[in-house]
Amino acid sequence: TKWVYSFGDGKAEGKASMRNLLGGKGANLAEMCNLGLPVPPGFTITTEVCTAYYAGGKRYPEALREQVDAALAQVGALTGKRFGDAEHPLLVSVRSGARASMPGMMDTVLNLGLNDETVEALARNAGDPRFAYDSYRRFITMYANVVLGVEHHAFEEALEHYKESKGASLDTDLGAEDWKTLVSTYKRIVRDEHGAEFPQSPQDQLWGAIGAVFDSWMIPRAKKYRELNAIPESWGTAVNVQAMVFGNMGDTSATGVAFTRNPSTGEKALYGEFLINAQGEDVVAGIRTPQDITEKARQEAGSEKPSMERAMPESFSELTRIYGLLEKHYRDMQDMEFTIESGKLWMLQTRNGKRTAKAALRIAVELAGEGLISREEAVGRVEPGALDQLLHPTIDPKAERKVIASGLPASPGAASGEIVFSSEAAEAARKAGRPCILVRIETSPEDIHGMHAAEGILTTRGGMTSHAAVVARGMGKPCVSGVGAIRIDYKAGTLAVGPVTLKAGDKLTIDGSTGQVIQGEVAMVAPELSGDFATLMGWADEVRTMGIRANADTPTDARTAREFGAEGIGLCRTEHMFFEGDRIVAVREMILSDDVEGRRAALAKILPYQRQDFLALFTIMQGLPVTIRLLDPPLHEFLPHTDAEVAEVAAGTGVSEDKLRHRMRELSEFNPMLGFRGCRLAIAFPEIAEMQARAIFEAAVEAARKTGAPVTPEVMVPLVFTRAEFDIVKARIDAMAKAVAEETGESVEYQVGTMIELPRACLRAKEIAETAEFFSFGTNDLTQTGLGISRDDAGTFLGAYTQKGILEADPFVTIDQEGVGELVRIGVERGRQSRPDIKLGICGEHGGDPASIHFCQEVGLDYVSCSPFRVPIARLAAAQAAL
Ligand code: ADP
Ligand code: MG
Ligand code: MG
Repeated sequence: TKWVYSFGDGKAEGKASMRNLLGGKGANLAEMCNLGLPVPPGFTITTEVCTAYYAGGKRYPEALREQVDAALAQVGALTGKRFGDAEHPLLVSVRSGARASMPGMMDTVLNLGLNDETVEALARNAGDPRFAYDSYRRFITMYANVVLGVEHHAFEEALEHYKESKGASLDTDLGAEDWKTLVSTYKRIVRDEHGAEFPQSPQDQLWGAIGAVFDSWMIPRAKKYRELNAIPESWGTAVNVQAMVFGNMGDTSATGVAFTRNPSTGEKALYGEFLINAQGEDVVAGIRTPQDITEKARQEAGSEKPSMERAMPESFSELTRIYGLLEKHYRDMQDMEFTIESGKLWMLQTRNGKRTAKAALRIAVELAGEGLISREEAVGRVEPGALDQLLHPTIDPKAERKVIASGLPASPGAASGEIVFSSEAAEAARKAGRPCILVRIETSPEDIHGMHAAEGILTTRGGMTSHAAVVARGMGKPCVSGVGAIRIDYKAGTLAVGPVTLKAGDKLTIDGSTGQVIQGEVAMVAPELSGDFATLMGWADEVRTMGIRANADTPTDARTAREFGAEGIGLCRTEHMFFEGDRIVAVREMILSDDVEGRRAALAKILPYQRQDFLALFTIMQGLPVTIRLLDPPLHEFLPHTDAEVAEVAAGTGVSEDKLRHRMRELSEFNPMLGFRGCRLAIAFPEIAEMQARAIFEAAVEAARKTGAPVTPEVMVPLVFTRAEFDIVKARIDAMAKAVAEETGESVEYQVGTMIELPRACLRAKEIAETAEFFSFGTNDLTQTGLGISRDDAGTFLGAYTQKGILEADPFVTIDQEGVGELVRIGVERGRQSRPDIKLGICGEHGGDPASIHFCQEVGLDYVSCSPFRVPIARLAAAQAAL
């Protein structure tokens, strides 16, 4: 088997399409080589080795060593060096690279191959001992940390101590002798902490580092990242071994990262950061504040340090040439890592850049405009779930802001919440239902769970490409980074800036679009839905075949739904209307009266309200379809709770309080979810359904007169499991339609259908569809009844189910395709047997979940209905499902 793929000198054994085998980094290094770009030579050990390593009890396949040796010799030949050579030592980096990019998850070791002997050769050959010893101390720290498990801070403390004793403030203030001294200190630290000497044999170093990369695949933070991003464990990681190029060779050397377009806004302009005389992760680690790449960015940031464009014009124009080439080649925005060694630019990585939803939209629309991709491709480029970020509020421009500091606008959107200083505190606040802002000096991969729990993230260190910034953008959370003016005292639980001191629990607002940090809570405004958003949504609408409706109960919901592009209401829950204002009193009278007359009297009081509610909805929806579900919840939900409420009902009905209490006991249920609810109410108390039907038809007549747009109400009977139930209720509705038509002299077009939300209804869908004119799959209840899991009680055990892999996802979020999905399929198929053109929709929470929407397309539903704020997500997901 071929376990190792080489690259270098304008050609490579691999290519971009071999990502599964070579990992993302390795595949793209090979591709850049094939494109003739300057890439230091190296080779990739495949992901199959990782899989074999774990399958074989952490042992390498046999031929691996031989293949690595051969590849290493070839790299040596290309560079005129030899690994372990005392005169011309080849130094390499050992870099992990999984199929899917996992930022910051697995660490890279640089300068490998250095030891007490080769460091001298490096110093001689470069004519620069400072550089050589700087590289050696970096290597010792990285190797000790990644491979030997020695904590970073041991070295950091020693360095701080040393700098203090020398009165130096920056690393760059230290010279060759200083680093040499520190190298011995570092080696002593390794001996003390690790219990063995720092390995001097380059071969041992290499295999130690390779093993560490494979081992890092299974460390908790990598597992957590995979879990959060649905990356299978079986994919494994590749290892890249690559000849070193040095960004720390003095003032004509540098290292940096750049995006071909702004990852925050999507603007088409080279965007990034670099550091002169630095190596590897110095840029993202936030140790020194990096410099801007372009002059324009420097001016906008008001930075005094020169841009790369000014400081290194030749390398800048080379980078500009390469970035144009890479974008054309990959047809997408690229995130590139580069190093300049003594004025020569080297490419170390490229990949499709992570971006905010706003940037994703703009980039997709502009790439289509530039002819690099088609409109359909543009539609496919934006992750529907990510639109959520755009639909979130931003700070009201008119609101007063008490800005106490500002930092980098690292991830857009605004958020308010109480200050927390640790990920644990963030999770605790989240559990208690209190929004919070995670405030940290900097974040590390260990903070991912806290970042998830927080509404937003603030860091006092780090640039736009720091860990906090990258991860927050991926999560769609607002983030302000590098707020240098804020001092955090973790022990005291305070943050201080100028005269202001805030403590944990105090309210704070961050604006990730401007970088502002604001004391207290600030008013927010709804997002802007024009521009690129509207353009892409328009393209999505051209592509999709399913309709998109919203679940809306109130005029506000309905208006939001329309603004977001809903094509109708797929579910109007009438029970919400029963709670409004003083109607609840009449509703209680109705429920608690023990005869038809009493109920009718109470219902007569409710009728005008209901009619008004429907009229408002019909008016807003302007002739679009509106599905209205008859009263569904168990009646006891409307019962009075307090003595005063009981007294109020007693006074209204003239019935004694004792009698009322008796009736309340009668109505109480052991298992209300499976109790006296749904169509069962309409069957026992038909007058309720009649009142609702009358309100619907009278409102429809009035709305048609008022707006000139005739409405087609779709009256929906809930919780049916057999045709007989449906027919009984439908007869009442039809009779009422007739009555209203006679009274008003105008007949309304309408349909009567049912919600399919019980397994038996799916099985008997054929008979039900003989009389039902539409089905709407109520997948919330269908999931509850299909799995026998009460949604409200699932919290205690469902987590364990997804963690143990019993269920892939929370079935209340993403439809359980195998089970509940199968029921839906059966319902669709059997329903169509008796009524081929039956209208089919879905109105559970799943209607707004992209994965579930794909499923809906697959089974051939006509529309999905979701909450108003998810309508754009559903439009885009439906378009992608249709591609
Ligand atoms: P990550 O996946 O965390 O980005 P990388 O493997 O890309 O890790 O390495 C991080 C950084 O280390 C690179 O961006 C680059 O600056 C530096 N680096 C890696 N390999 C080399 C090399 N062969 N020569 C010089 N610098 C390197
Ligand atoms: Mg890293
Ligand atoms: Mg990298």
